[in-house]
Parts: sequence; structure tokens; C-alpha cells
Amino acid sequence: MKLLSAIVPCYNEEENIADFYQEFIKNEAFFKENDIELELWYIDDGSKDNTVSEVKKLIERDMRVHLLSFSRNFGKEAAIYAGLEKARGDYVVFLDADLQDPPALLPEMFQYLNEGYDSVATRRVDRKGEPPIRSFFARMFYRLMRKISKTEIMDGARDYRLMTRKVVDAILSMPEYNRFSKGIFGWVGFETKWLEFDNIERKKGETKWSFWKLFLYSIDGITAFSTAPLAFAAVLGVLFCLASFALIIFTIVRKALFGDPTSGWPSLVCIISMISGVQLFCLGIVGQYLAKMYMEVKKRPIYLVKEEI
Ligand code: UDP
Ligand code: MG
Repeated sequence: MKLLSAIVPCYNEEENIADFYQEFIKNEAFFKENDIELELWYIDDGSKDNTVSEVKKLIERDMRVHLLSFSRNFGKEAAIYAGLEKARGDYVVFLDADLQDPPALLPEMFQYLNEGYDSVATRRVDRKGEPPIRSFFARMFYRLMRKISKTEIMDGARDYRLMTRKVVDAILSMPEYNRFSKGIFGWVGFETKWLEFDNIERKKGETKWSFWKLFLYSIDGITAFSTAPLAFAAVLGVLFCLASFALIIFTIVRKALFGDPTSGWPSLVCIISMISGVQLFCLGIVGQYLAKMYMEVKKRPIYLVKEEI
């Protein structure tokens, strides 16, 4: 018998807990046939609604269901990490509680593990039902990441992933505080099979990611998997030095040849404000890395547990 640990991060998902269970358990026959035992971990990320009591109802009915409840909202990344720490399975899979990651795909995913892959990842090929602006910025983010990071980060990749114990242990060996799982999954390597599916819209409830939250998350992703912005700041500095050098020569020559009175107070103001803008921007880039380092150095726990069943 092999054990499969399914990990479901939940933040205010009271309407989805039972539905998810129903949908997931439809794979029961497949699990039986293939000698796979099951443990289902709902990771409650500090929900303020009835998520916890919904999970407890399930636990009374099914002993394979477990709950890990955080002391407050620590974010989905923390929930993923907690799930990995709790999972005892030979295989681990992450799924969203809102059924945007179809559990019906599991048999196909297992088929690829049997073929020798270490992990099976999924990506959605379209972004149907998503606000166009959000899609646009998401695409830009992935394009930028592909250019500036050596780690492979797929456009439309979901956190829906099935992996073997080998991969799980590799990810657990990365206890960094600023976690960007899409990057971490790529960074650890191993043979990964990508499955594609059409975007499925959330069944009930609302998305927990505002545009601003996503924007901050994208900065986490960039700083965690690329130092290109730091190099960019340095290059910008060099370019401005060269430009100012050319300007100095130009001004001296003009004065010598034409005796031009050094006029140009407005242009000076423009140049000074532009350059101080660029300086602050670059300082901001350095600041981002410094802030991440600060949080990393503190070595605070990634999550705190309130209750475990
Ligand atoms: N989630 C979480 N903590 C958070 C935000 C989200 O555990 O702070 C969970 C959420 O309950 C869901 C999954 O992460 O199971 C994906 O979130 P959501 O569906 O809101 O994101 P979207 O699919 O819109 O990107
Ligand atoms: Mg969702």
C-alpha cells in the first residue's frame, strides 16, 4: 500500500469544504484499484468564517480527513509549506479548495508517475473569466520572469501538483521565509510532466487575491528568483554617467566655440529631478532585497499552529 497525502489550503472557504470532499472522493475506486491509501489535509489559513467547523464535520465522518489550523492568516505559501511538513505520504498533491483544480485529473497524473516522472504539474491554457487587466499583467510577469530568472516558471502554472516523496523532501530542504512555490518547484528540478487544462472558474465564494496582493506576490517572485533588478540598477547608473559626461563635453565645447552664456535653469531642474527619480528608484530596488534579507535573517517561523486534528 502507498499513501497519498492531499493538501488543501483554505482561507474563508466554508461553502467549498464539503463540495471539495465530495468531488475528491469520486476517485475512491481508482485509489482502491491501485492500492493507494489516502490522507486529506485541510490547512486552514486563519479563516474568519466557518471553515474550521465545516472541516470538523468531515472529520467526524471520515477518519482520513485532518485539519491544521493557523493562528492567523499566513498566506497560501505558508499553507503549502505546512502541508508538506504534515504530509506522511509517498505521494503528495496540492489542490485549491474552490475546485479550480479538478480532482478528476488525478488518475491521469498517477499514470505519468508510473511512467517514471517524479512530479506532474498542471497549467491552465487560457484565463477565461479573469479580468483582462489582471491577465495582461500576469502575462507580463511571466514573460519578465522568463527573461530575468534561470529557474523555469511556466505561464499559467497552477499549484496543482502531484509529486513523489523525493521531490517533497527536496522542497522541505528549502526552509526560506519568502516562499514563491512556483519558483521553488522549478528550482528543485526532477522530471516533471506538464498537463494542460482549460481554466475552470471558481464554483463558490470569491478569489482571495486582490490586484494589490498579486502585485506584491509578483515582487516576492522576482526578488526570490532573480537578482537581475540589482544589475539593472547598476547598468542604469553607468548609462547616466556616460550621458552626463557627453553633456559636460558638449557644454564646454559650445562655450569655447560660440561663447554661449550658460543659460538653462529649466533644463537643469528637469535633469536634477529626473536623476533623483532614477536614484530613488534604484534605491528602492536595493531596498526590496534588503527587506527580504531582513525578514530572512530574523528566522521567524513560516506559520504558527492553533489547532491540529
Ligand atoms: N488561500 C489561502 N490563503 C490565502 C489566500 C488563499 O490558503 O491567504 C487559498 C484559498 O482558500 C484557495 C487557494 O488558496 O484554496 C487559491 O486561492 P483563490 O482561489 O482565492 O485564488 P485564485 O484561484 O483566484 O488565484
Ligand atoms: Mg481559485
